[in-house]
Amino acid sequence: MSSSSGTTGSPTYSGFTLKDREITNDNQARALVRLGIEPGDVVMHASVLSMWIAGIPGVDSMMAYGVCLVPVGALSGVERVAQIARDTRPKSIKCTVSFAQYLAKHMEERTGIDPATLGLEKVVVFGEPGGSIPQIYEPLEKSFGGAMVHDIMGATGCHSPTGISCEEHNGIHFYAEDNAMFEICDPESLQSLPIEDGVEGEIVFTGLERECGPLIRWRDKDIIQVTTEPCRCGRPGPRMLFKGRVDDMLLVKGVNVFPNAVRDVINKTSTLTTGNIRIVKSSPGPVVPAPVLVKVEVKAGLPDQKKQTLAGDLDNAIHHQLRFRATFDFIDEGEFELLKGATGKTHLVEQINEQHGPLGRNDEQRNI
Ligand SMILES: [Zn+2]
Repeated sequence: MSSSSGTTGSPTYSGFTLKDREITNDNQARALVRLGIEPGDVVMHASVLSMWIAGIPGVDSMMAYGVCLVPVGALSGVERVAQIARDTRPKSIKCTVSFAQYLAKHMEERTGIDPATLGLEKVVVFGEPGGSIPQIYEPLEKSFGGAMVHDIMGATGCHSPTGISCEEHNGIHFYAEDNAMFEICDPESLQSLPIEDGVEGEIVFTGLERECGPLIRWRDKDIIQVTTEPCRCGRPGPRMLFKGRVDDMLLVKGVNVFPNAVRDVINKTSTLTTGNIRIVKSSPGPVVPAPVLVKVEVKAGLPDQKKQTLAGDLDNAIHHQLRFRATFDFIDEGEFELLKGATGKTHLVEQINEQHGPLGRNDEQRNI
């Protein structure tokens, strides 16, 4: 049995019969074949070893394929990951985007081991957006010595994983047409939209041939953009780009805003920022009054005068591209505390209670 991460409510449970596991194993094999990983290759699993679908169930299906699995987990810390990677020389490492960033940033200073020297060929990331965003995957590829970053995805009620990005970094190739049916729906009316190039909406999955607890038209609450144009890699089928979570969607001046979109604009506008941001809101629900307060981590030692100019640049870019005004709380590099959920996902929205200050780091306390 597996369960969803439950970051926005009660977990959703999925059971697996023997046949369900066989189909899941087959889907996992499709991802590994696309990565060029063969049975016997060493793969490091540097993520939670829990009943989250990417935890034990992911480990189970990778072992069924025959990889030599190194289940180091994510909780043992950067020191242990570095030491075991140096000793076992994995071809691929699998972890969340933010853990990959953490390893890239801290491994050498903490352990003396440069991640670029580990001989990794693939860094497979999941669980949060980033693996398909150039501002995030390019620095990772550089830090890991030219290893290619791939973005892998799954869906509740399906035989996950259901897709992986290719070497063209051109969206996630959906490869599970025979065992997972998807629809793209308008997130408000829930009407199914035609699958055509560029269509964007909430993805709704139906796992096919699932024996245990089949979920019919299950809303995973992800907003996806579908591309049907042929990919340069030559592989067929639709590709998916993760745009945000329905639950994360904010409403600013009547316009839908995804926290990821704010992060993208900030990343593209200035090289003085590190990529870590968090939108601060003081009332429950999706409505956020403008100007929106955004905490932004900036490179160490940035003088106040440059921060003032940066605030102006970022405000203009956000106003131009997302149509609202923002104010900024700049936090020096190294002092920005990431808010993490139970599975290590980073929260981009911080809910503060105006009278009592930040609510803390617990999911139950509504940090989305
Ligand atoms: Zn491709």
